[in-house]
Amino acid sequence: MDIKTEVLIIGGGATGTGIARDLSLRAIPCVLVEKGDLASGASGRNHGLLHSGARYAVSDPEAARECISENRILRRIAGHCIEETGGLFISLSEDSPQFRERFLMACEEAGIPTALYSRDQALELEPELNPDLLSAVKVPDGAINPFELVRANAKDAERHGAKLLFHTGITSLLIDQNQVRGGLALDLLSGEDYKIEASFVVNATGAWVNQVLKLAGLRIDMALSKGSMLITNQRLNQRVINRCRPASDGDIVVPNETVSILGTTSVRSEEVEDFEVTPPEVSLLLTEASRMIPAIRGARLIRAYAGIRPLFQSGGTGGDRQISRSFALIDHGERDGLKNLMTITGGKLITYRLMAERTSDLICRKMGVDVSCSTHLKPLPVVAESLRPKDRLQKIAPGGEVLCDCELVRREELEEILETMQFRDIRDILHRTRLAKGTCQGGFCVYRLLGLLHESGLVKESPNKVLKAFLEERWKGIRPILWGGALKEEELIESIYKGIFNLKDSVEFGVGSSE
Ligand SMILES: Cc1cc2nc3c(=O)[nH]c(=O)nc-3n(C[C@H](O)[C@H](O)[C@H](O)COP(=O)(O)OP(=O)(O)OC[C@H]3O[C@@H](n4cnc5c(N)ncnc54)[C@H](O)[C@@H]3O)c2cc1C
Repeated sequence: MDIKTEVLIIGGGATGTGIARDLSLRAIPCVLVEKGDLASGASGRNHGLLHSGARYAVSDPEAARECISENRILRRIAGHCIEETGGLFISLSEDSPQFRERFLMACEEAGIPTALYSRDQALELEPELNPDLLSAVKVPDGAINPFELVRANAKDAERHGAKLLFHTGITSLLIDQNQVRGGLALDLLSGEDYKIEASFVVNATGAWVNQVLKLAGLRIDMALSKGSMLITNQRLNQRVINRCRPASDGDIVVPNETVSILGTTSVRSEEVEDFEVTPPEVSLLLTEASRMIPAIRGARLIRAYAGIRPLFQSGGTGGDRQISRSFALIDHGERDGLKNLMTITGGKLITYRLMAERTSDLICRKMGVDVSCSTHLKPLPVVAESLRPKDRLQKIAPGGEVLCDCELVRREELEEILETMQFRDIRDILHRTRLAKGTCQGGFCVYRLLGLLHESGLVKESPNKVLKAFLEERWKGIRPILWGGALKEEELIESIYKGIFNLKDSVEFGVGSSE
């Protein structure tokens, strides 16, 4: 299957799907190629914070202004992906009052509205906060569901003519006379490879940008910064809680549906896929986050995970927290003499639309096309029925079968999805339904899903092999938080799996063998 198109977009995170949507709304043909599923890079490995920009107001005013402007646009066009929680920046006794004053002024300069609350007002709003807090500043932070956001962009792009290929990696670039002409793609599941001819190639691969640029003998200065996060089994805060001090480890707790997400660390990494969460990171996050919300100490954790921030370095020698969170759009024709290749990287999840707009504007200028961006005006489509457990509860009919008890995923819902999607990998279903994303992390439901897949004949390989791969991946997120209640539940889950599959010990099944 060889393909011809106008623009080849490499990378199916928020940025790549945002570009596919923007271009297709301007009627420019494009093909997006993603080596995993949608949002399998940093777009699916973050806090889900709808930044107000306040975190960057003091240190990175440009990024702060981008965030507040995009925050307002996303509330208009992607309301169904957002929970309008609001946020607080709290000051504890060890936090400098001078920093709070600078913070308030910097927010005002960046156009971020704030309100100063006393200790008592803050505790009334958020009773679990540390009672020793001195004050809190209210900001328009929120929570955003990255998977729904990326899927909505992908759906709208497809609706307007874009072609999206998943589990397909770009393995080389077609270059002729200092001009890029497309790329060679490999379907990583079927092994099929083919040629995609294109007038322009956009490298929207986030932390992987240098791997793609290497195919053309190029590189840019990037710092890869690993950030680890922990998820509690219940929601401890209604608003996003930040620490009012210069950005540092463990200074944020983001509510997300029924859980809270504790973030984050910043560790320089050489590896693009270094997703290991280490015991010191877990301790640090717990210590720092429980200074803000003491109940975190006694809360049960359900998962640890990490993402890699793609930070574009334009000189400077400071630490990773000093590198701007703004983005870089690089025209390799101008920079390196290789025409029609562009790289877009850095930025934030919530600035993806602006990044896509700037990239699409550049392509339009080069093509001589005079159509303006409309992504800030047109609402994103709702992709599927609501994934929120409280909405799903209404849909459970008497006697209806629920496969995932934590996220209330019904058998019917899964059957519908399997009918409409082209099934390629078990993870595609988990991203689309939130099955296995709840308190048991798939311990009680994934074998039920496999039963369904087996019945429908969709799993070509042995179901045990699929299950083993899932459990090994799950184990990476569970292992760093195994103590207390989590350990007990894990032992229960282990015995369930041993019982169902008649296993004598974990070695026979291979659980943990990837470690
Ligand atoms: C710990 C952490 C917390 C964060 N928290 C927030 C937050 O709360 N709010 C916020 O706004 N931002 C946050 N961010 C930043 C945000 O997640 C990223 O800036 C954003 O998701 C980057 O999106 P992207 O599409 O550019 O890159 P990615 O989402 O990484 O997408 C790149 C894609 O390219 C694909 N790819 C790579 N190589 C190839 C190839 N050869 N062929 C095909 N495909 C390829 C990858 O599989 C990947 O899916 C956080 C980041 C981290 C790491």
